[in-house]
Amino acid sequence: MKRIIFATGNAGKMKEIKEILADLPYEVLSMKEASVTADIVEDGTTFEENALIKARTVAKLTGEIAMADDSGLEVDYMDKAPGILSARFMGEDTSYDIKNRYIIDQLEGVEGEARSARFVCAIACVWPDGREKVCRATIEGRIAKEICGENGFGYDPIFYVPEYGKTTAELSMQEKNEISHRAKALREMKKEL
Ligand code: IMP
Repeated sequence: MKRIIFATGNAGKMKEIKEILADLPYEVLSMKEASVTADIVEDGTTFEENALIKARTVAKLTGEIAMADDSGLEVDYMDKAPGILSARFMGEDTSYDIKNRYIIDQLEGVEGEARSARFVCAIACVWPDGREKVCRATIEGRIAKEICGENGFGYDPIFYVPEYGKTTAELSMQEKNEISHRAKALREMKKEL
């Protein structure tokens, strides 16, 4: 079976990605599973650029199909922060409990529509023959007033989806994978495979 090496070290993301790509005739491996080590500097200025930087690096190292995701949370009231810096926001080693509480505090007294936020995801794929493709998708929501839910990862416990009346951390993985930014971008990319 052909392989796709997914350029991420994030276990939470990898779990979702494997589930979404499970019906493809490809074996999807994380960098760790493929024994690929690379210290990739994500110095792009957009989600798309950073996804491409990661996928190109892994394609070059492996000679196999490489995919990468670059994603993050945009909070409109915070001028779209943390954005592409979502993983590094307040320091890479700071717990999401602290990051999430900080964002809730920033929005103290802010109501309704003004709490709007979105998750953004760019998926890049680089093929051994040099072909490249990037797909971008979003999911719109609001910053919750309290941390809620145990599922997912990162900012999921504060990302409230009005249509579901829940945060993405209260959705099952199957439910999140029907509506998430990552799922939508990956479904678009699947058409290329
Ligand atoms: P990346 O690994 O540089 O793409 O960083 C993405 C970061 O954005 C993650 O570490 C999370 O902090 C955040 N993020 C992206 N997608 C999600 C999601 O689906 N749920 C919660 N947080 C997310």
